[in-house]
Amino acid sequence: MTEKSIILYVEDNHDNRNLIRRVLEAEGYIMAEAANAEDALRKIHSVRPNLILMDINMPDMDGYALTARIKATPGFANVPIVAVTANVMRGDREKSLEAGCDGYIQKPIDIDTLSQQIDRFLARQSND
Ligand code: MN
Repeated sequence: MTEKSIILYVEDNHDNRNLIRRVLEAEGYIMAEAANAEDALRKIHSVRPNLILMDINMPDMDGYALTARIKATPGFANVPIVAVTANVMRGDREKSLEAGCDGYIQKPIDIDTLSQQIDRFLARQSND
């Protein structure tokens, strides 16, 4: 990575946001956070993230609906969105892909492999 990647983490849980921010900042990413859909829809314009980590279970608008909204926002269709979900039931992968997510990471997040997973999504993006 010659340039630091900017990650926007959308997550309603404060403790999760703090943990993942610390882990990814230590790995050299620039972190931005949003606590809900409204916050996220505002911040994408100021932050211009290279990748969005998207919690699925959130009050008001969930991560599936928010992903669809962001993908439909002019200029953001190609920003990779990676779902972060504790829902491990069969069908959740399909649901997140249907909503426009580019992939998913399972909760609880494995902090030892998180940056490798993110780099894989970023590399895939730049090869398109
Ligand atoms: Mn949540």
